[in-house]
Parts: sequence; structure tokens; C-alpha cells
Amino acid sequence: MRPDTPAENVDHPAEAARLERTADLYPEDAEALLLRAAAHRELSGDRPAATALYDRLLASATTLDHPHLVRALKASNLWEYGHEAEARAIIEGLRAAAPRDPASWVIVAEALEAHDELEAAQEAFTQGVTVLVGEADVPPRPTHPLLFGRHRVRRMLGLAHDAWDTLADTLHSMPVSLDELHDPKRVWSLGSDNPAELAAEISRLRAELGAYREALSRPYPVAVLHWPTRELTELLAAYPDLETEYPSHEHHLSTIEASLRELASSGTPNLGIVTGTLPSYEAFAASEAASPTDPALLPQYATTLAARGRATPWPPEPTTTCWCGSGRSYGGCHG
Ligand SMILES: [Zn+2]
Ligand SMILES: [Zn+2]
Repeated sequence: MRPDTPAENVDHPAEAARLERTADLYPEDAEALLLRAAAHRELSGDRPAATALYDRLLASATTLDHPHLVRALKASNLWEYGHEAEARAIIEGLRAAAPRDPASWVIVAEALEAHDELEAAQEAFTQGVTVLVGEADVPPRPTHPLLFGRHRVRRMLGLAHDAWDTLADTLHSMPVSLDELHDPKRVWSLGSDNPAELAAEISRLRAELGAYREALSRPYPVAVLHWPTRELTELLAAYPDLETEYPSHEHHLSTIEASLRELASSGTPNLGIVTGTLPSYEAFAASEAASPTDPALLPQYATTLAARGRATPWPPEPTTTCWCGSGRSYGGCHG
């Protein structure tokens, strides 16, 4: 099962409109759907439309799951189109509230960094690390981008490594070391007027910054569809044509793991698995006025479930239960 269209081929305004319509159908999932719609509005360059969506969420009567994240995204978006004072006021409020979710901190710190406020960015990263990592020797995976961002900004400021910088170095698993990646001389060489040198620098930086920023500011994974044993049996009994897509349950499970690994190795951040059920798949097919036997509908169904906030992040930690439902550890099963 292939996930939906790669990001660069997306028609952002159309995708935003589709997500906004879906939010009307599933008001209980409006937060995840409208945040994703806002991301598409931002990517299409329509920043006022994105602000309107953040405001709609902040004004809604239901309690938000991630109120700080919505505010952080709103501030970052506002600052991008000239509303600096309002953005700063929101950022001040967020820092005072000391949220427990790493993404809010990263978005705030990166907004400051993007506007050349390295000292303030460093403080925000440090504050986030203090709140969320503290004394932990093994920081949870979602906090890694905070440590990496802090390392980057501190390198640019020319500060000596402290214990958290060293921790960031040990957590980083890419072929290029964090110290090389964040070498201020390399960052400053962006001021070079040699076009080839510039292009090489920009693409290397983009590979690193882009991946983390994307993963954090868009906390809605690229998701692969998983049918548990019983659901797959029901699906194939109702729509035998889909047997070409799913020759056996075992094959289905190994395809999921293989697709996710391929996506991960090609640098796609933020991967996840969504679980299908026959009734919800049929309802989705009906809402798209399509036949459930159409295999092209399956990745769209996966994307919609992910947009509704139904994805489980992949990969699991090696010692936690495997995503497939076997009950064994991921390390001893599909991992
Ligand atoms: Zn380092
Ligand atoms: Zn498994």
C-alpha cells in the first residue's frame, strides 16, 4: 500500500478545502483536520486564510487537545506576513505557560531563529529542554528535535558544548555528524557569492532543517493502512476484488513494514500506521462517491484517517508492542 501523493505534487488550496469539508463531517476530529488544512494554506502562501483557521480553532467551544501548538503555529504564521508584534505577544504568553509538548517549543524557537533572534531562540530551546528533558539520561524521542535545534543555535552563537549539546550529539544518528551539520562556518558560507557553493550548502541545510521542521510543524504523519486479521477477512469477503491488493494477511503486514522502511530511508519524516475497519471504509467510499473495490481509494482512506488524528507513530520503540497486534515486542516481531 503506497501512501498518498508526495508533498511537492500536492494542490495545496484543493487539499485544504477538502480537509475543511471533512472537518464539517467529523466535528470531533476538527482540530487535527483544520491544523492540517492550515498547513496547506500556509504552504500555498495564503497566510491570512491559515490565521483564520487557527482563530476558528481557538474560538471553538470544544476543548483543544493541543491549545499551545495551535497558538505557536498561529504566532509563527503571523510573523511570516508582517504581524510581528502580535506574534511576539503570543510567544511571550506561550513561554510563560511552559507547555508540555515539544512541538510548541520547537515552533516558537524556530520562529525566533527564522527572524535572526538567535539569543532568544537559544533561550526558548533551553527552556523547552529544561521543562521536557530535565535530568533524564534517555530523553524521549519527541524531545530530540528540541535538543538538535538547541545544538544548532548554540553552534551559530559560538557557545561551547554543555551536557545537553553532548547528549544531542549522541542521539543524532545521521551519516553527517551534528557538529559538522551545525558548523557555523558552513552556515555562514551561505553568504558566499559562489553559486555552486551556495547551492550545495542550501541543499545540505535543507535536508536537515527541512526534515525536522516538517516533522514538527506538521504533526500529522504520512500513514500506511493496516487491516487487522478480522477486518481484512471481512473486507475481502465483502470486496473479493481487493484480493489482488491483499493476497494474504501475512503479506499485508510485511508490505506495511517494508513500505514504512522505504519511506524512512528516503528521508520522509513523521510516519505512522492507521487501522482500517470495514464500516468506516465504506462510509469513506460513500463520502467520496467511489466504489470500495477501487484500490486507488485505499491510500486516500489512510490519509483521511491520519488527518483525523488516527495514526499511531512508526517505528515503535524496540521494546514496546509491535504495531501488528501479535502482542510481541516490535524488536522481536516486525522490527
Ligand atoms: Zn555537538
Ligand atoms: Zn509484528
